[in-house]
Amino acid sequence: MRLTKEPFYLPVGREIQLFEAAAAGRLPVMLKGPTGCGKTRFLEHMACRLGRPLVTVACHEDLTTADLVGRYLLKGDETVWVDGPLTTAVKRGAICYLDEVVEARKDTVVVIHPLTDDRRILPLEKKGEIIKAPDEFMLVVSYNPGYQTILKDLKQSTKQRFVALEFDFPPPDFEAEIVCREAGVDAGTAAKLVAVAGKMRALKNRGLEEGVSTRLVIYAAILVKKGVDLNLAIQTAMIKPVTDDQVIQKSLEEIAATLL
Ligand code: ADP
Repeated sequence: MRLTKEPFYLPVGREIQLFEAAAAGRLPVMLKGPTGCGKTRFLEHMACRLGRPLVTVACHEDLTTADLVGRYLLKGDETVWVDGPLTTAVKRGAICYLDEVVEARKDTVVVIHPLTDDRRILPLEKKGEIIKAPDEFMLVVSYNPGYQTILKDLKQSTKQRFVALEFDFPPPDFEAEIVCREAGVDAGTAAKLVAVAGKMRALKNRGLEEGVSTRLVIYAAILVKKGVDLNLAIQTAMIKPVTDDQVIQKSLEEIAATLL
């Protein structure tokens, strides 16, 4: 995917300069942070800024090496090699984004190792071929440390192949500006939704597994923009998606009510 229009991204710290330095130094990058806090948007913005195509792979536990690298397929009575997204990205000098890399199987993750050190190669074992990555190729993974358990975590031997940029929910003023821009609501509405989100995030680990994402705050704002009452928008977009526990839902509604 090559984006023609640079997606809006509001920098929160020095992430743009750091990413540019990593790209110039041909270093692989890990974007760390909770879901829905702007990692993907940041990368889309950076790909556009750097003028490189972006190839995104959503990782899951059934993702095999062949899914990433490619495989021989039968077409008519011929077997033809079909590149996987990683191979395509290497050949095109693209940014390859492995979203939620920890979800991928351990034996699958290993295939990226030779691309993440100074060899910068991708061995296509089934084809008996080795591809050398051009300077423009960049590997980026996202990783949510909040989800990890002892059983499901990246190995140190994988982690220590990336420079890490840490993301979190943007500070309130920034988040309100993002919500205004993305949903087209007025500053007052955005500030209220962000204040509710802030209170809800303070409950993380006290009943809530993960703080409400910026994405959901934007969804609530979009509902408001479409005429839904503020309270109902908060319930529908910011409370119900994050917890199934009705007691917690009720107390979140009460917290929200005190701020509106
Ligand atoms: P994830 O961290 O899960 O990849 P996304 O990048 O999809 O999250 O972020 C969710 C939404 O939040 C984006 O679509 C975008 O609208 C918004 N967003 C979050 N942070 C920013 C930011 N700094 N600048 C612009 N938009 C942002």
